[in-house]
Amino acid sequence: MDYDGFFSAELEALKDEGNYRWFAELERKRGAFPRAVNRHEGGTRDITVWCSNDYLGMGQHPDVLAAMHDALDATGAGAGGTRNISGTTHAHVALEAELADLHGKEAALLFTSGYVSNWAALGTLAARLPGCVVLSDAGNHASMIEGIRHSRAQKLIWKHNDLVDLEAKLAALPADCPKIVAFESVYSMEGDIAPIEAICDIADRFGAMTYLDEVHAVGLYGPRGGGIAEREGLMDRLTVIEGTLGKAFGVMGGYIAGSAALVDFVRSFASGFIFTTALPPAVAAGACAAVRHLKQSERERAQHQARVADVRARLDALGIPHLDNDSHIIPVMVGDPVKCRFISDRLMADHGIYLQPINYPTVPKGTERLRITPSPVHGPAEVDRLVDALGDLWAQCQLARRPVAAQ
Ligand SMILES: *Cc1c(COP(=O)(O)O)cnc(C)c1O
Repeated sequence: MDYDGFFSAELEALKDEGNYRWFAELERKRGAFPRAVNRHEGGTRDITVWCSNDYLGMGQHPDVLAAMHDALDATGAGAGGTRNISGTTHAHVALEAELADLHGKEAALLFTSGYVSNWAALGTLAARLPGCVVLSDAGNHASMIEGIRHSRAQKLIWKHNDLVDLEAKLAALPADCPKIVAFESVYSMEGDIAPIEAICDIADRFGAMTYLDEVHAVGLYGPRGGGIAEREGLMDRLTVIEGTLGKAFGVMGGYIAGSAALVDFVRSFASGFIFTTALPPAVAAGACAAVRHLKQSERERAQHQARVADVRARLDALGIPHLDNDSHIIPVMVGDPVKCRFISDRLMADHGIYLQPINYPTVPKGTERLRITPSPVHGPAEVDRLVDALGDLWAQCQLARRPVAAQ
């Protein structure tokens, strides 16, 4: 077989469909983020990033950088092993304690990423609970879907955020079989928020465990950054809370928090935890500093929400359609893959604005969008430039506008 010929043909098909992924090569500038340098074929240009998941700019916070420098200088580069074989450092243990406390749980367990935490934890729980059935929200992230698939447990997909469908599916199952209801708090492409309390009520009635992915909420919501469940006083209702250290916390890594027995169970049986080198201690120390800082500082969260409201109001004033949701994610709806890519390309080349187009298969065809994630580190002048550029391109592409409310 001509292996490379096969790979090339598949890639050409992807390009023809408009689904090939082109990466923008960036160098973020510490202290100046969201400014970055974009290297491209013609040279370099200074740009402003408007689609980062470093939602609060914690990736350049002085406390985080100091903790990482200290740990690097004190202990060296890598952990040197899996957690079981010499890779458990003081930084890992301290971070797990910090995360358990953040979510009001007995214990927490670190993974090398949020993806791995979902894949390994859901995969292990669903595989090892005898006869387990997983009820998975239709909007769930690929990492949960892959974990459930890997477990080979029976899976039922309930309609996104649909309580009636969830209840009907639970009611149809045998009363005594183990069940896991898996869902997210903030869904990253629509920015909508799950009815957590009602889901927990239903799960309780049918004796199901609840597994909540708070990846797009930790650090951002709740008085200490514990997520939507903390904000709504529901953390004790969830069996497992899963999060990332790579988005609002600005570093890298993932985790679950839950009861001591559940966490010890996953620690003891999850291949994706056991057989991989532990995070570098400097990464754990940096993440720990970010979690600690956001536990006691409301400033970043307040500024974040203010900036989001500002960008939404400015888009409304121009009639640029965006999904109304209660989160910090602003999906600007283009509804056409070619125009979506065109606007993104022009923003980068002509305006120095990096806003990644989100096309199929990440979102359904016809709902192509630009996903704006404002942060406290975006200044008023940057908001002006973004909104003005979008207004111009909206006209150029002859895209529909919403009626603008009279002032
Ligand atoms: C990004 C993401 C993850 C994975 O987290 P990483 O730390 O980036 O691996 C998990 N769940 C959701 C909903 C995500 O958006």
